[in-house]
Amino acid sequence: MNENQMKSNSERIFYALGTLNQIKIFDRLDEQLLDIAVQRVLEIETLMSAFKTDSDVSKINQNAGKGFVSIQAETYRLIKRSLAFSKMSDGAFDITVRPLVELWGIGKKKNYIPTEEELICTGKLVDYRKLILDKNNHRAALRDNGQAIDLGGIAKGYAAEEIKRIFAENKVKSALINLGGNIVAIGSQPDGKVWKIGIQNPCAPTGKYFGFLSIIDKTIVTSGINERFFMKDGIRYHHILDPRTGMPASNKILSVTVICDCSTDADALTTTLFVIGAEHGMELVKKLKTEAIFVTESLDIIASIGLKDKFNLFNNNEK
Ligand code: ADP
Ligand code: MG
Repeated sequence: MNENQMKSNSERIFYALGTLNQIKIFDRLDEQLLDIAVQRVLEIETLMSAFKTDSDVSKINQNAGKGFVSIQAETYRLIKRSLAFSKMSDGAFDITVRPLVELWGIGKKKNYIPTEEELICTGKLVDYRKLILDKNNHRAALRDNGQAIDLGGIAKGYAAEEIKRIFAENKVKSALINLGGNIVAIGSQPDGKVWKIGIQNPCAPTGKYFGFLSIIDKTIVTSGINERFFMKDGIRYHHILDPRTGMPASNKILSVTVICDCSTDADALTTTLFVIGAEHGMELVKKLKTEAIFVTESLDIIASIGLKDKFNLFNNNEK
């Protein structure tokens, strides 16, 4: 890459939504548009974080068991989309999983394994059918006291999708968005070549890839057991929970990657596939006419048929 090309690239690296994010425009220098994109992600965080006391999500959680609260239209829409994934997966994806997320406290409490009693008691609070939407007034309510929602499994994808929309409106032709593993590749590389996007190796540090996808204008989202976890007695406890057992999903899967056109859906789908496993997962992937790659504990790599010409493994000498 020559000096001019370096100068014509502009990027932002910033922390938000609990992760490190990178946004880079390749076809022109546009600091202002990058600032708008970052601002948009921060706005979404303000609305949708379960940690910010004034967020829509916190308002709903604080009011659990008490009735409806008014929320912004976009939060309403994202909750609605989340519920569609809950219905589609028979509750494997469930944003009312928050009480379990807090109980485990993965990445926060120190290697805490809840008791069976705690799991049963807290598990009773997790039920997407008790998250009620009032479509006429953009209001939401949790039916039972103690219930809470968490958009951690879908919000990064939504934020990436929002940047994609802003960039499209501003005629950006070549850009990469990476919000903590939620990647959107806009257009093609500046020279017109396809993007080659590395797929994170779930057994190696962040930035080490086991293969790559050759794509144009697609989103690629990966969720892995290596992201947030702790080890105890040789068992790995990670951050994607099976709402039906209260335990970290255990399907002998190390990572799931989804490749499709909508980052919001790809994000929700990776979390869903983790919970339902590779076998049922592939059926759902087929039904949704999307593509996915599973890496199993025995290091098998299972890719959907549509990726035949797009997905390549690195051999050991490459990276
Ligand atoms: P990451 O955030 O590491 O990319 P995911 O997109 O899979 O991974 O989201 C994991 C987050 O989603 C968890 O940290 C938790 O907040 C939430 N979550 C965990 N289990 C579920 C589930 N079964 N359904 C919906 N959300 C979940
Ligand atoms: Mg997800």
